[in-house]
Amino acid sequence: MTKTYVLDTSAFIYGIVPDGELVTPSRVYEEVKDEKSRLKLELISGLIVRDPCQECIAEIEDAALKTGDKHRISLTDRDLLALALEEKGSGKDVKIMTDDYAIQNIARKIGIDIVPLHQKKIKQKIEWEKRCIGCNRIYSEGEICDVCGSPLRLKKRSISRGKKNEKR
Ligand SMILES: [Zn+2]
Repeated sequence: MTKTYVLDTSAFIYGIVPDGELVTPSRVYEEVKDEKSRLKLELISGLIVRDPCQECIAEIEDAALKTGDKHRISLTDRDLLALALEEKGSGKDVKIMTDDYAIQNIARKIGIDIVPLHQKKIKQKIEWEKRCIGCNRIYSEGEICDVCGSPLRLKKRSISRGKKNEKR
């Protein structure tokens, strides 16, 4: 089955366009249109701009209330989710392309898969550090912890300081 991707604004900004049917709500289209990514938008052939039905919007608002994300999603986010729900309802294999945490949270709730956009960026940014398996102290070199004497293990440095989900 052809995959359907519902694209978030950031998908256009990063220029990440998967193979498959591409759908986006008009709010995303309007946001992207004014940005530099407009060019990319014009390069995407077969992009379908469509707005979700009222029933789907209501269902998303309900789901957002349940997950506690109601105040963390914008109208654009809501339309994006509702559109994905509607596509899924018509029997399509649909995924949402987004990095937005609140969108991901609600998508999980309504059973829609997410394709994150940030993975590539993170892959480029992996850094290593040595960490004590006893007390978790971090060292740049050595084999044994100076403090507790436990061995050090090489670990990926965790990068948790991503983009905050700030809403317009
Ligand atoms: Zn230690």
